[in-house]
Amino acid sequence: MIVRTKFVVSIFLMAVGAVPALAQAPAAARKQTPAAAAEKNQLKNQLKQKPPIAADNEKKPLMSLPYTPGLDVTSMDRTADPCVDFYQYACGGWMKHNPIPSDQAAWSVYGKLSDENQQFLWGLLQVASDASAPSRSAATQKTGDYFYACMDEPAIEKLGASPLKADLEAIAGLKTRDQLPTLLGKLHLSISGRSMLFGFGSNQDLKDSSRVIAFAAAGGLGLPDRDYYLKEDTKSKETRERYLAHIQKMLELIGDLPAAAAAGAKTVMRMETALAKASLTRVEKRDPYKLDHKMTTAAFQASTPSFRWADYFTAIRLGDTSELNVTEPAFYTAMDALIKSESVANLQTYLRWHLVNARASELSSPFVQADFDFYRRYLRGVKEMPSRWKRCVRLVDRDLGEALGQVFVEKTFGPDVKARTDKMVALIDKAMEARIKTLPWMSEATKAQALEKLHGMRNKIGYPNHWRDYGTLTISRDDFAGNVSRSTVFESRRQLAKIGKPVDRDEWGMTPPTVNAYYDPQMNDINFPAGVLQPPLFDPKMDDAPNYGNTGGTIGHELTHGFDDEGRQFDAKGNLRDWWTEGDAKEFQRRASCVSDQYAKYTIVDDIKINSKLTLGEDVADLGGLIIAYVAWKEATAGQQLQSIEGMTPDQRFFVGYAQWACENERAENLRVNALTNPHSPGKYRVNGVMVNIPEFGKAFSCKPGQAMVTDNVCQIW
Ligand SMILES: [Zn+2]
Repeated sequence: MIVRTKFVVSIFLMAVGAVPALAQAPAAARKQTPAAAAEKNQLKNQLKQKPPIAADNEKKPLMSLPYTPGLDVTSMDRTADPCVDFYQYACGGWMKHNPIPSDQAAWSVYGKLSDENQQFLWGLLQVASDASAPSRSAATQKTGDYFYACMDEPAIEKLGASPLKADLEAIAGLKTRDQLPTLLGKLHLSISGRSMLFGFGSNQDLKDSSRVIAFAAAGGLGLPDRDYYLKEDTKSKETRERYLAHIQKMLELIGDLPAAAAAGAKTVMRMETALAKASLTRVEKRDPYKLDHKMTTAAFQASTPSFRWADYFTAIRLGDTSELNVTEPAFYTAMDALIKSESVANLQTYLRWHLVNARASELSSPFVQADFDFYRRYLRGVKEMPSRWKRCVRLVDRDLGEALGQVFVEKTFGPDVKARTDKMVALIDKAMEARIKTLPWMSEATKAQALEKLHGMRNKIGYPNHWRDYGTLTISRDDFAGNVSRSTVFESRRQLAKIGKPVDRDEWGMTPPTVNAYYDPQMNDINFPAGVLQPPLFDPKMDDAPNYGNTGGTIGHELTHGFDDEGRQFDAKGNLRDWWTEGDAKEFQRRASCVSDQYAKYTIVDDIKINSKLTLGEDVADLGGLIIAYVAWKEATAGQQLQSIEGMTPDQRFFVGYAQWACENERAENLRVNALTNPHSPGKYRVNGVMVNIPEFGKAFSCKPGQAMVTDNVCQIW
């Protein structure tokens, strides 16, 4: 697949490949034209006239986002002692009142808002899909027709596996290993999300962020992490057995006889295990230096004699092929050995499995069901498949997110919210600046560099300056699989076309409706889509205390990523460069170890502890983020006479406001996957783990030494 190989860090986990990536060419600037206003009214009237049809899960398309207050006392458990378990105190009511829906692996304040966003987008798409409506804009036609085709289940069922026919024939036509690069290039362009043999894409040069170069990354696995192939505990062995059965089932669905499919599954497992062994761990991949191996194409070719890169580059129509970054050279050595040692028939089996695995969701129900049964039901514990409308909304957001996002922004993100969040960001920047200047452990030389980095950071709030132009992408009302495939090729080409061109710093890696935020160390920017600046996360009706605790804490979190154990290795321009004195770097590491040792003691599920070397960047960002949000809140409310509300002091409300972004319930299966793959700690520790390190929290609730939320060993970095 063509991948976006970014070192982006977000506030919570995003499904790999679920991000429709970044904007490039400027389209029309965002402002409300008379035509857009007319269209908006038209949409509104249509929604009024046509009552939406209820789905089987009784949800309805929404005309507007429902309101949930930013600080909700009914979400608290005031019988709990905040000094013993603050998470229970702030989120106990929420956890009790919000059981995990049957189609979810976890349920959280973020997840719930995201679900409501999807219902709202459903409403917009239902209107947009009405082809009889006069004068649909180009964007509305594309999103509406994509959605219509996706919802046309009878047509999709009728086609069965036939959308794979051409690619399966191409794989069947592989006669020699020499033909593999050309075939793989073609397949890579049209699959997304899941990985076939390796990942290839574009990214900023790690040492020179002004240049975009080609990146070749490790990949080729069907399980969520390399560790699944290598661990010897009972649960991992069981997972591998279930995975073998799943591969067999999928191969049977594309026509293999059971015995051949069972043998094929073993072949796939053997090949993927070889690739897994040669892949870096997630912890190793957090070290950007371990992924920085720029080389000439000639040198790369010499290291992989069994795979002709020139053919692959021709197949994906790569322009500049003089040099590239090979993130994991050892992986490619192993891949080359694998290609050489496996028969052509085995390579074909591997490709067939990965083709059907990558495109299962576009096919008829037996494929969709089998895919769900393994990846969602077995691995994540989800009880029921999400309704079709929800899957289709997610796909439109993935493939046409900046077309869909325009309407979303018009309806949900007014200039008042933008102004208030802009002010909050400015005060948080200022608080960080003040903290850097007064840090007792950092030298003046490093402080000067840190301040330069802070001042160089761009804040992107709400939506892109320029909307992506989908003009060359054909979307048809009666060709769902074709729409998905063309959209994927469109996105692959867009990623590859960046190579050799100037970096577009206005690009976004998340669509506007997304309920998430991120920091990008190579861009040195923080990005807050409109979707994450909605109640209950940011509540314009609420006072500053909970808003600074919640959204302020998240802004501080993303900003701190620029200074966590990974982000601190990039400079103001986004280049991988060590700007620390030796002494300061040592002092940082000592302080980061304090956080890492603290989180290593927390249990996720069963007897599995947090892998705190994987979560360190997020844990550091949570801690630093809340501290600077607190300082910014004090500045924002300086001189005001703040009152207690609902029996809580202003400081108590700030901390409860923070905690209530993280309220969640999770299935045990999902927690087990997260323990291996998620760089974020569970919500409980993203709250309690931070609070014990903030003396102002203890003061606000009059906690006493010896209580669980009070520690002698306070960790503090920023
Ligand atoms: Zn983060």
